[in-house]
Amino acid sequence: MRQASSVTPEAPTTVAPIALLDLQAQRRRLDGRIERAIARVVEHGQFILGPEVVELERRLARECGSKEAITCASGTDALLLFLLAKGVGPGQAVFVPSFTFASTAEVVVLLGATPYFVDVGSEDFTIDVGSLEEAMDAAASSPLTPAGIIAVDLFGQPADYATIEAVAEARDAWVLADAAQSFGASVGGRRVGTFGDATATSFYPAKPLGCYGDGGAVLTDDPVMAATLRSLRVHGDDDGRPGARIGITGRLDTIQAAVLIEKLSVLEEELETRRMLAARYSEGLSAVVEVPSVRPGVESAWAEYTIRVPARDAVTARLREMGVPSAVYYPEPLHRQPAYRGFPTAPGGLATSERLARQVLSLPLHPYLTPAQQEAVIAAVRAAVEIEGRRDDGASS
Ligand SMILES: *Cc1c(COP(=O)(O)O)cnc(C)c1O
Repeated sequence: MRQASSVTPEAPTTVAPIALLDLQAQRRRLDGRIERAIARVVEHGQFILGPEVVELERRLARECGSKEAITCASGTDALLLFLLAKGVGPGQAVFVPSFTFASTAEVVVLLGATPYFVDVGSEDFTIDVGSLEEAMDAAASSPLTPAGIIAVDLFGQPADYATIEAVAEARDAWVLADAAQSFGASVGGRRVGTFGDATATSFYPAKPLGCYGDGGAVLTDDPVMAATLRSLRVHGDDDGRPGARIGITGRLDTIQAAVLIEKLSVLEEELETRRMLAARYSEGLSAVVEVPSVRPGVESAWAEYTIRVPARDAVTARLREMGVPSAVYYPEPLHRQPAYRGFPTAPGGLATSERLARQVLSLPLHPYLTPAQQEAVIAAVRAAVEIEGRRDDGASS
């Protein structure tokens, strides 16, 4: 243990406290613009589907190159609205990765359909296409109808849509991109928002583009789908004609739209900073831990910078002692959680999802992290991994 203290970095005690997310720094930078935008909405009073909502939808579509953007109350509602538009229901199988946030599978269950869990790749954490194909074949020879795929752009990296779309087309299935973590990411210069049949994103405060509460959007090039989604988010009202279909209360508040318009103006710069920080982390850490890898041609939105470490929980505790916060997304794959245990899994098993759940650790990454803070995180991770590595050696010899 004496040795251990000799490698403990001094830096964390000499820099400002490190946060996983620093929304106040962003607010200071926007210098009153968000408060003024909110005040304007309070003044005009159009709290539901006001002019800021229309303006934001125009800007979101332009930002990602999609024809339509339909805002809604959350990322989960964005997923749900698309499934409602597709008529998803009992007897249908929807293929989802197991290593994701609950929403991805939850909406499928809510509509009475069956989530079919698929494994992810160990390098990019997105759907493993081999596992997907096996699951779709298995479902096809069961009483279930393979209906669609929800691919997740985990931690900000888009899934392999070119391959997933080909698999879906051959089996007559739709593809929904769960881009809750990847707004602003791209593949070969093409922005997230234009892959699959539609894209669902979230404006939860911790996402790359976040509001001051809950919010989300569906992006699509299909005008018929867009019209259906606009109807579904107001109880199935079709241009003032009520009851055209069964819908929900799924609108984005005008105040949140006003906040998002201001934040969208600095998104490009923030994404650039996130990329720079991610590159710096990888430079400083690739010798001691497994760092995230990005497929060629892909620009991640870096919602999270996630390393893989054995003895993860011990490393987390060491980091906490050194003043470095970290988070585990996700400690348990969905197919192992009580509410989802009864649903089918890909025939080859979900070994990667299970291993990642034991090893992943997300480090502080937000656009206002200072170079000194990042150096402190890097030094702390190196120290923590070294101490735990030595303890492991001791234990095994
Ligand atoms: C955050 C998230 C969602 C849900 O978004 P909400 O706005 O919180 O409803 C869905 N899928 C993934 C992968 C997410 O990370």
